Amino acid sequence: MRAAYAEIDLNALHHNLMRVRNYAPSAKVMAVIKANAYGHGLVRVSEAIKHKVDALAVARVDEGIRLRESGFQKPITILEGFVDEDDLDRFYQYQLDSVVHSLAQVDIMENSKNRKVLSIWLKMDTGMNRLGLKGNDFFLAWERLKRCKHVQQPPGLMTHLANSDDINDDKTPGQIKIFRTATHDMDGPCSIANSAAILAWENAQAEWVRPGIMLFGCSPFSGKRANDFDLKPVMSLHSHLISIKTVQAGETVGYGGTWICQSETRLGVVAIGYGDGYPRHVRHATPVLINGERVPLVGRVSMDMITVDLTSQPAAKPGDPVTLWGPGLAVEEIAAAADTIPYTLLCGITQRVQVVER
Ligand SMILES: *Cc1c(COP(=O)(O)O)cnc(C)c1O
Repeated sequence: MRAAYAEIDLNALHHNLMRVRNYAPSAKVMAVIKANAYGHGLVRVSEAIKHKVDALAVARVDEGIRLRESGFQKPITILEGFVDEDDLDRFYQYQLDSVVHSLAQVDIMENSKNRKVLSIWLKMDTGMNRLGLKGNDFFLAWERLKRCKHVQQPPGLMTHLANSDDINDDKTPGQIKIFRTATHDMDGPCSIANSAAILAWENAQAEWVRPGIMLFGCSPFSGKRANDFDLKPVMSLHSHLISIKTVQAGETVGYGGTWICQSETRLGVVAIGYGDGYPRHVRHATPVLINGERVPLVGRVSMDMITVDLTSQPAAKPGDPVTLWGPGLAVEEIAAAADTIPYTLLCGITQRVQVVER
């Protein structure tokens, strides 16, 4: 076992997928596993859930190809779609479903010399202002795609919510209304909801839901934890103590000497750092678990190591296991301490961290 490793609990993944079904009992589930399944391993996750989902979604075409090459046979949606004719040919070749979010893509489809047919999701921009078509362009694209011989009929209709992770934000009902009004007379399946909408915005549910982060046992809401929704963390990040020493009052610890020892302190050095994906900017005294107990991090996070105050752990010794997040120490809490969101921590695990199944 390498010093730093991430453990993946597939039972927790299955549990969380069941929670998606509880929240959206009549919807089809397109599990969003972009960015290496939020750091959990693309093929590992797809293998684990392939019989329990209706489709998968990833951001990029190379991720979709990897899934096809691993043997996944249900629909795979590529959320960023194709950008040119060559790209489009890969969609035909690997039977990947594309999001169509621009008139430029409609042009490419109409002019395609390929004989094949593609399933697509036409994406409406209802206020996110990232990908998607607005107003009349959306209608124009739909009409053209309805006539396009390369399109499996009818096209799916989707949008993405910008503020669904804020339960009190009134942008979300506005986005849902724009989408419902515009698509009211169109045929084709609809999809609106990401995890936050599945959990908190019931009227965002449609034929398809697109859960990502909740599958991995995280709350998308800043003020709430996975427990509040009976979700279970799938990834836990571990390492171990490699050295223990005593520092005297007045000494400083680590780069920049940002932590000054107030009284003689037992200090532990843990083999994990930002080179593993542990966030460099965690707040002073962010907890880590040693032998199941919380101890505070002191000083700066360096590339390969962190230092912790072992005053409360007189029996701790080199080799003892350390948990950076997982059951008992929510990744949401570490994300808050680093002034970021759990998504960035999960998908930020680096190459040298060995990922193992529990
Ligand atoms: C990432 C993504 C999702 C999933 O979002 P979560 O917040 O992780 O549930 C759904 N739809 C689209 C278009 C996305 O990009």
